[in-house]
Amino acid sequence: MTDVRPRRSIRPHVRLLLALAVAVPALVAPIAASAQASTVDAATLSAAPTAVTAAVDDSQLNAGPPSRGGNYMHDADAPWVRPVPGKVTSNFGPRPVICTPAGCSNTTHDGIDLGSPCGTAIKAASAGRVTSASNAGSFGERVIIDHGSGLETIYGHMQTGSYKVTVGQLVKAGTIIGNVGMTGVATGCHLDLKIRTGAYIDPKPFLAFRGVTL
Ligand SMILES: [Zn+2]
Repeated sequence: MTDVRPRRSIRPHVRLLLALAVAVPALVAPIAASAQASTVDAATLSAAPTAVTAAVDDSQLNAGPPSRGGNYMHDADAPWVRPVPGKVTSNFGPRPVICTPAGCSNTTHDGIDLGSPCGTAIKAASAGRVTSASNAGSFGERVIIDHGSGLETIYGHMQTGSYKVTVGQLVKAGTIIGNVGMTGVATGCHLDLKIRTGAYIDPKPFLAFRGVTL
């Protein structure tokens, strides 16, 4: 003999619970949404400036022009500084080939040489992101800073082991990036500063326009 339990209809209080489960979200949702909306409005109004500031996070910046996947655009008003003291020992432009035991220079000098004692601190000329810190052969130990919008500054003949920055690091104008040296093809301690906007440009007028005299 099989024990069959008699079927019972759903009890009234269970039915009420089921009805509430269906009805309550429908009733509560609009109230919750309106409460949430008004809360967000108040928070947005009172915290708008803070929220905007917080969104500008250096770690989110990716140096370089959009064509290279970057989104860090150099501010036209960004300050510029002279990377090292010392007078110009070789200008930008054509010049006789200079040979040392380490090799020979090019017939065109695509940077400007600032004579400064070895060990002198080198400052980043402006804000940007370090994209290279490595040996570049005849140009010696070299740091490249990408300022966004296709603009780069390049620092050559640095002292071996003097890098104070690493690739990917964001720097400001004046951040110490390393020391003056004479690595690569160099006849004395100096900083070879190059500025590139696709092609190399003369740093002297570029920096003069930005208030920096070389
Ligand atoms: Zn040079």
